[in-house]
Amino acid sequence: MTQGASLDIRTIFRLDNAVLAFRFTATIFDRAGAAIERLTDPGRLRLWLHASGLDFSDEVTAEDLTAAKALRECIHRAGAAVADGGQIVAADVRALNALSRNGNPYRVLEKGEVRWRGASTADALSVIAADAIYTLGGPDRDRVKACSDEHCHGLYVDTTRANNRRWCNMNTCGNRAKKAALARR
Ligand SMILES: [Zn+2]
Repeated sequence: MTQGASLDIRTIFRLDNAVLAFRFTATIFDRAGAAIERLTDPGRLRLWLHASGLDFSDEVTAEDLTAAKALRECIHRAGAAVADGGQIVAADVRALNALSRNGNPYRVLEKGEVRWRGASTADALSVIAADAIYTLGGPDRDRVKACSDEHCHGLYVDTTRANNRRWCNMNTCGNRAKKAALARR
């Protein structure tokens, strides 16, 4: 792989989100602010898929990258709608369903741990689309939120018992808010 592999991947991507589909939407940083794109080329997509255990294909093409970004933005629109208590627009529902169906991934047990397997990037995107569908329509649906940080707006599932977390991550955005509040005093 290219030089990038020797770097700490966390300097390129935010991988702290426990929900796969939302971790994928976080490949744009600070969506409501500077909106920094981290999937700048097919190699970056391959690196992200590798970090998520979904690098099924040695060759990630420009077309794969285009499809991945379309899926990502679809998930973000859909997630923002759900976080807002609204409905996902029909076109995005259709796109998520189509991308979920457009693959043949499967789970395996390997050394006692669950892993995804597949043969193409379409299979990887299918896993991400299925995860988005489960997150947005499953039991955690009412816990889907958008980060209160004015620059971030990142999606997350609030796992607190009281369902009252306001930031995508307490160590990053939550901490930033805490510091800002202290500075105002
Ligand atoms: Zn955030």
